[in-house]
Amino acid sequence: YLIEDPKYSFLKDLGLENKNVGVFNGKWEAHGQVIQSFSPANGKVIAEVQTASSSDYEACAAASQDAWHYWAELPAPARGEIVRQIGDALREKLQPLGKLVSLEMGKILPEAIGEVVEYIHVCDLALGLSRSLPGTVFPSERPGHILIEKWNPLGPIGIITAFNFPVAVFGWNSAIAMVCGDTSVWKPSDTTPLVAVAVTKIVESVLKKNDIPGAVAALCVGGKEIGQQLVQDPRMKLVSFTGSTAVGQQVGVEVQKRFGRHLLELGGNNAIVVNSDANLDLLLSAALFACAGTAGQRCTTTRRLLIHKKLYNEVVSRLKKSFAGVISKIGDPLLPETLIGPLHTPAAVEAYKRTVAEAVKQGGKIEFGGKVIEREGFFVEPTIITGLPHDSPLVKNECFAPIVYCIEIPDLETGIKYNNEVDQGLSSSLFTENLGDVFKWIGPHGSDCGIVNVNIPTNGAEVGGAFGGEKATGGGRECGSDSWKAYMRRATVTINYSGAIKLAQNIKFGD
Ligand code: NAD
Repeated sequence: YLIEDPKYSFLKDLGLENKNVGVFNGKWEAHGQVIQSFSPANGKVIAEVQTASSSDYEACAAASQDAWHYWAELPAPARGEIVRQIGDALREKLQPLGKLVSLEMGKILPEAIGEVVEYIHVCDLALGLSRSLPGTVFPSERPGHILIEKWNPLGPIGIITAFNFPVAVFGWNSAIAMVCGDTSVWKPSDTTPLVAVAVTKIVESVLKKNDIPGAVAALCVGGKEIGQQLVQDPRMKLVSFTGSTAVGQQVGVEVQKRFGRHLLELGGNNAIVVNSDANLDLLLSAALFACAGTAGQRCTTTRRLLIHKKLYNEVVSRLKKSFAGVISKIGDPLLPETLIGPLHTPAAVEAYKRTVAEAVKQGGKIEFGGKVIEREGFFVEPTIITGLPHDSPLVKNECFAPIVYCIEIPDLETGIKYNNEVDQGLSSSLFTENLGDVFKWIGPHGSDCGIVNVNIPTNGAEVGGAFGGEKATGGGRECGSDSWKAYMRRATVTINYSGAIKLAQNIKFGD
């Protein structure tokens, strides 16, 4: 096991061992199958995790519900103080936790640390929210009446997360849900179980120090079956699901069947539109990170470059040069010189190979890359493909790998049309210097995505805004702005202090 190698001693700093328990409900106890966690950089086993059995899930859900009665009664600022302490505990473990994310997920260390920083930022955001959660007062049409909106916690919620942001996505949900007064059961991806155990140990340490029930933040490592059990559980008032569109659609339907709430953060198929007046230096420096960064494994990775015909040849040739420049910087994500790490699993490498082969079969031209890199681990070349129609099924599908399709456009209107013609609606960006075109892009006939950028990559969001997308991306919003509303229920309250009954709309009923 890599955990025994002194090179990876940071794993011990996080309280991890050779064999870890993947279930926490106040106690660490699991009875399910034992799984191994692999490093995508070399295919070696890092350590083992015992996952949840069906009855372990049941114990988590029951403990989460018990803990909720206590947690919901704490004043929001007191809950905010706990979240503040979680932020501080994460600051203390920033380096080892970042290294673990890099080792187990495969993204490069600066991005892995950035992901932990994102959780810290959302703790800061949630702390402020805990002292400013609003409730509006409306004027009543009836004398001696007041109309107010009261927001209450939902109860226990389920958080199901994807492999590619194993810390941040949990953080976005957990920090906001905690100040809103919800408890949670977290089902992480079963290919990043060590990150989930390490994060939960950090949260547990804060809860314990403050004598708060651990089940406020329960953990249930497991696969699809545990996910399904959670989705069908009426105790889980909200299911926040991050993952592929195919699974998210099933989850949405299942949760709707029981009239639960869902928050869906699903797949993307993000485009950069290159306007005729785009600043190409700006575009090129953004496009490398947008298309090839994180080895194409961000939901917001740029998968389509829609380039004005005037600039098409220049953009493709300069992009090829910048892709060529990173080939020597593909490697172990923990090393400081590395810019691109591996894909997460052998299955992802297969999907990459299939997509490249299919693109060639359909007449596409591999302008750059297209091959698996012969070395240990799951490495592929970042790839540029031209010559496919803008609406071909391949271009309209999300392949979770570093493949970008370059497509020529005659004008901005066509760029917007192509941007919007895919099922997904997560992120988009326009490169332009024209103010009028910026407003066209962000207006009613512009991009139909949840994230509509100008002169920056499609990826790399900040926590202050609401994050999420439209259409097959699921419609959910997390993090900043008013995303907290998804974690609370709203009551419209009318209080009569007039001493007489008066009906709305001045209706007279009887005397
Ligand atoms: P995935 O859909 O395979 O798995 C996501 C989670 O769902 C995992 O925890 C998995 O165990 C669980 N799961 C699988 N089947 C389930 C079922 N039937 N019921 C309940 N849970 C089930 O996704 P992945 O490969 O881990 O992640 C990559 C995908 O996630 C990409 O499509 C990416 O775009 C998307 N993603 C979206 C966002 C966003 O915010 N929109 C963020 C990150 C990733």
